[in-house]
Parts: sequence; structure tokens; C-alpha cells
Amino acid sequence: MRPEKTAILPEAGARWQEEFAAAITSPEELLRLLDLEPNAMPLARRGLGFTIRVPRPYLARMGRGDPHDPLLRQVWADAAEDREVAGFVTDPVGDEAARAGLGLLRKYPGRALVLVTGACAVHCRYCFRRHFPYADAGSRPGDWDAALANLAADPSLEEVILSGGDPLAVDDRRLHGMLTDLSALPHLQRLRVHTRLPVVLPSRVTAALEDTVRGLGLPLAVVIHANHAQELDPAVARAMDRLRAAGATLLNQAVLLAGVNDDPEDQIALNRRLYQCGVLPYYLHQLDPVAGAAHFQVSDDRARALAAHLRARLPGYLVPRLVREVPGARAKLPL
Ligand SMILES: *Cc1c(COP(=O)(O)O)cnc(C)c1O
Ligand code: SF4
Repeated sequence: MRPEKTAILPEAGARWQEEFAAAITSPEELLRLLDLEPNAMPLARRGLGFTIRVPRPYLARMGRGDPHDPLLRQVWADAAEDREVAGFVTDPVGDEAARAGLGLLRKYPGRALVLVTGACAVHCRYCFRRHFPYADAGSRPGDWDAALANLAADPSLEEVILSGGDPLAVDDRRLHGMLTDLSALPHLQRLRVHTRLPVVLPSRVTAALEDTVRGLGLPLAVVIHANHAQELDPAVARAMDRLRAAGATLLNQAVLLAGVNDDPEDQIALNRRLYQCGVLPYYLHQLDPVAGAAHFQVSDDRARALAAHLRARLPGYLVPRLVREVPGARAKLPL
């Protein structure tokens, strides 16, 4: 028998997909690979419905033998996740109320957000969607036609944002289909993709993806998500170069995280490094109070002091907007 399926799925076996599938999901293995003792760091008992997930190229940027590594801290299911903390809830940003059906979220005028998939290459412990019911959120392939019809019927939309999960977790063929369908809607002026994949798995920036970006009839912004300069290694910088050369505008959103990037020097290094990679800072998000993430919280006073420090040290274009998402608000709110 001939393996005909490979002709239907030309991408199966692409390097990024192999790397995606080979992510580390065992806490013991993660510690072992980092030369850490088996009980070097206390592990959560609950909350592992949201499993540990770390792609190997991301792990390679962590310091060996360092339980306080800022990349490790973002992915380690710390025992602190077990604590119930008042105000930290499963749906901190009102996504349930904003569900416009079929994998769409509508919160702000002129923009709609598509939940392309629930899958992510990495599981960030502070993720505000760690409890989101993706399974019934319309992230099944068949829902795209219905979502597209919904977007086509609303001439007030200027921009559609592909999000998730991580929209680049789907293969290039599907992504090409969605972006091409969207760029044919006459009322849209811009497209946007919110993704962490080029950071954690830079091999995701394939030639096919570059071709898709290059061939779009609309301007595309790719908003990546990096929280620390150490995440932006030379492979990520090359991936950024390629996206930019294909015509994408590159922006970054970061989340302010205690023990990861709440030191002013870390923020300065991050924004300088982003610029070296051709990426401008966009938002610095104050943590969404999602259950299990309270150990990442930075007080508003400290966050404001940090922002003032950045304004004093960096050119204005390297200072991200410090914002918080308030359920029901018409925009992300400045602090
Ligand atoms: C954050 C968000 C957007 C994008 O907001 P911008 O301020 O334009 O970056 C759009 N839709 C939803 C549902 C969002 O949560
Ligand atoms: S990549 Fe984004 S959506 Fe996925 S777990 Fe991390 S923060 Fe959440």
C-alpha cells in the first residue's frame, strides 16, 4: 500500500510540527533536562488539567541548574497554583459574555477576534484562557464557514484578529485559506495574528507562511508574545526578519510577571532586544486575575513605577503601553 495520505497533507512531518509534537509535558523530565534535582521546585497538585508543555527549542534557552530562570518560571506548574486566592477566577476577562458564536469574540468596535484553535505550543501558567472551554468555542474546522459568513455580514468591521490558543498551531494550508478568505472581505482594512509560536518555535516561520504573508491583499500585523530578552535568541531574530521581509508589521505584547520581568532592567533589556529583532513593543499587560496565577501578580503601584522608569530610560517608541483588560470596557485600559 502506498502512503497516499502524505500527498493530501504535504505538511505532515514539517520540522515545526515534529518539534511541536515533541514538547516536554512531564515535570520530571523538564527538571532532569535542566540539571535540577527531582524536588528542586514544588509542583502543583491541582491545575494540571492545564498540563505542563514546553517545546525543546524554548527549553534550550533556559539556564541549566537555575530554579529561578525567567523562562522556566513561565512554564512551571508551581505549587502556588493550588492556592485559592480571592478575585482570581476562571474567566477573568469576560470572554464568556463576549462570545459571539462560532469561535468569535467581539468586545471592541471595528475588531473581531477569531479563536482559531485551542492548541498552543507552550503552556504559559499565567494564561488568561487556561480555563476557557475551547472544545465548545467553535474551534472545530467546520466552523470556519459560519464564522466567515458572520464576519462578512458586518460592514462595521475593519480588522479581524486571528487568536486562540495559538492560530499558528494550525497548518499552513488552513492558515492560508483563512487569511485569503478574510482578505477578500471588502470592508476589512487590516488583518492581525496574535501568536507566541514564532518565539517558542521559530521553525514555524516556514517558506509557505512567508508566501502567504507576501501574497495577502491587506496589511498584516503579527503580534508576538515575548516576556523576557532571553526568549529572543538568534533563531527567533531570523524568524522575525523573514516575517518582516514578507511585509508583516511586527509588534510584541508582554505580560507583567513577578519573578520574570518585573525588574526594570529586565524590561529595558526586553524592549531593546525586541527592537534589534525588528519588533516594536505594543502592550505590557497587567496580569489578568485567572485562577492559579496569583503568584505572578505585580501590584498596580509597582507596575506604574516600572512604567515611569521605562519612560525615563528608553525612547518613547520602545516603551510598551501598560494596560489592563477590564470586563465590559470598550478597550484595554491604561493604568
Ligand atoms: C485584546 C482584544 C482585541 C484587540 O484589542 P487592541 O486594543 O486592538 O489590540 C480585540 N478583541 C478582543 C476580544 C480582545 O480581547
Ligand atoms: S501561548 Fe498565549 S494562549 Fe497559549 S498558553 Fe501561552 S499565553 Fe495562553
